[in-house]
Amino acid sequence: MAKYVGAVDSGTTSSRFIIFDEKGRIVGLDQKEHRQIYPQPGWVEHDPMEIWNNTGEVIKGALTKSGIKGSELAAIGITNQRETTVVWDRNTGKPFYNAIVWQCTRTHEICKELTADGGQDRFREKTGLPIATYFSGPKIKWILDNVPAARAASERGEAMFGTIESWIIWWLTGGPKGGAHVTDVTNASRTMLMDLHTLKWDREIMEIMGIPARGLPRIVPSSDQATWGPTSESGPLGARVPVCGAVGDQQAALVGQTCFAPGQAKNTYGTGCFLLMHTGHEPIQSKHGLITTLAYQFSGRKPSYCLEGSIAIAGALVQWLRDNLRMFESAPEVEALAGKVEDTGGMYIVPAFSGLYAPYWRPDARGVMVGLTRYINRNHIARAVLEATAYQTKDIVEAMNKDSGVELKTLKADGGMVYNELLMQFQSDLLNVPVVRPKVAETTCLGAAYAAGIAVGFWSGREELYNNWEEDKTWHPNMTEAVRAEGYKGWKKAIERTLDWVD
Ligand code: ADP
Repeated sequence: MAKYVGAVDSGTTSSRFIIFDEKGRIVGLDQKEHRQIYPQPGWVEHDPMEIWNNTGEVIKGALTKSGIKGSELAAIGITNQRETTVVWDRNTGKPFYNAIVWQCTRTHEICKELTADGGQDRFREKTGLPIATYFSGPKIKWILDNVPAARAASERGEAMFGTIESWIIWWLTGGPKGGAHVTDVTNASRTMLMDLHTLKWDREIMEIMGIPARGLPRIVPSSDQATWGPTSESGPLGARVPVCGAVGDQQAALVGQTCFAPGQAKNTYGTGCFLLMHTGHEPIQSKHGLITTLAYQFSGRKPSYCLEGSIAIAGALVQWLRDNLRMFESAPEVEALAGKVEDTGGMYIVPAFSGLYAPYWRPDARGVMVGLTRYINRNHIARAVLEATAYQTKDIVEAMNKDSGVELKTLKADGGMVYNELLMQFQSDLLNVPVVRPKVAETTCLGAAYAAGIAVGFWSGREELYNNWEEDKTWHPNMTEAVRAEGYKGWKKAIERTLDWVD
């Protein structure tokens, strides 16, 4: 009898495999980082083969460390860094080019051309998205336009396009020997090629971008009773396990946090920062710079939608302080530095490294450090780095409150930065709502495990999942309105300074 469910988390910086028991507790885990490739300023790539090889290693690693056998898993699910795009050869599995990562800005010209004819919001009604370098469709176009072998294979019908979950599922289910070429609705909704209302690829947009339909994966529910094939016995699991859950990382966190009712919201503080609010079975168009996107779809049920505020740089700014400015050895040390001062001394950092995402959508913005005086030292800088994440979140919450018409009452938090107490307290102060961290902060993996486990009946339904959710810690607001307003006013001025930097 299978006692566990496994989840692959193919993230921006690392691959993880986590094994959960029926209470949603972690019983096995392994993790491995992969290389970040920066060929030019603003360009970011990953090696897809390295990601697939690491996936195999962490699956084997988690099984070995926990003493659990692949055959004891009822199902596995995948969650992934979204939008990152691979084009590969269906006969050999060889990628034609490195994966183009979500943060990469190389499609700036393509996006400018698309925008010139109809504006930044020309596809918003259909896709819920503004035209931006962030999304996958233009990344596929870039590879087809710039890599002759990919274009030629595409014309022969031998090129496969996909985001990272498609790539991993294809390999897990057999690769060149008949692997399933699928993408789930949440990932498909980030391509700017899917119609949000019909959940089908949109012919008109595909024609405008010159992306042929036959290279695209089949769109499937995030939790699919049909399953996409078992893993092979010769693969890393060493057993035939149904692969039947796939959810983009941010939507997976929404599921892992059990935000199944309209109005419920979570914020994930990782490399970037992503606030998603469940809005029910109909897509709500944003008027304040948010994205409308799929929350999830369980087999045989109506899809659920959400509003999303995406922030490109959050924990990545802490990494920048660590790696580029060499201020400390490991990310958590930022808290001790920031804790040595009461405030930032009036300085702000806006990390618009890849432009600004929501709610501004300005690819031409670049980062600034403002309000510097002779008084400022490294502690103030460390504090401003943490506060930047909280301020960016505040921008999103303001937009979300206006779009949804409901005031956020409490914020469920997860991701690597939620162990930073100073940040969590400041976030609660700035939003003036409680911020709650669950016991299992690996909500992304948990959400993917839930999607897979529900598909095979390992979990009975939402009630059981709600019961698994347990609070670890809550931060309550403790700041006067005057201080909050003054701080936010300075932030807005700092944002103004980032705009129009690039022509
Ligand atoms: P992802 O899934 O996006 O790869 P994680 O959720 O694992 O990211 O979070 C890692 C990010 O969080 C890194 O950018 C790191 O700099 C940051 N981080 C981790 N721990 C802390 C901490 N204690 N304080 C501040 N930032 C942190």
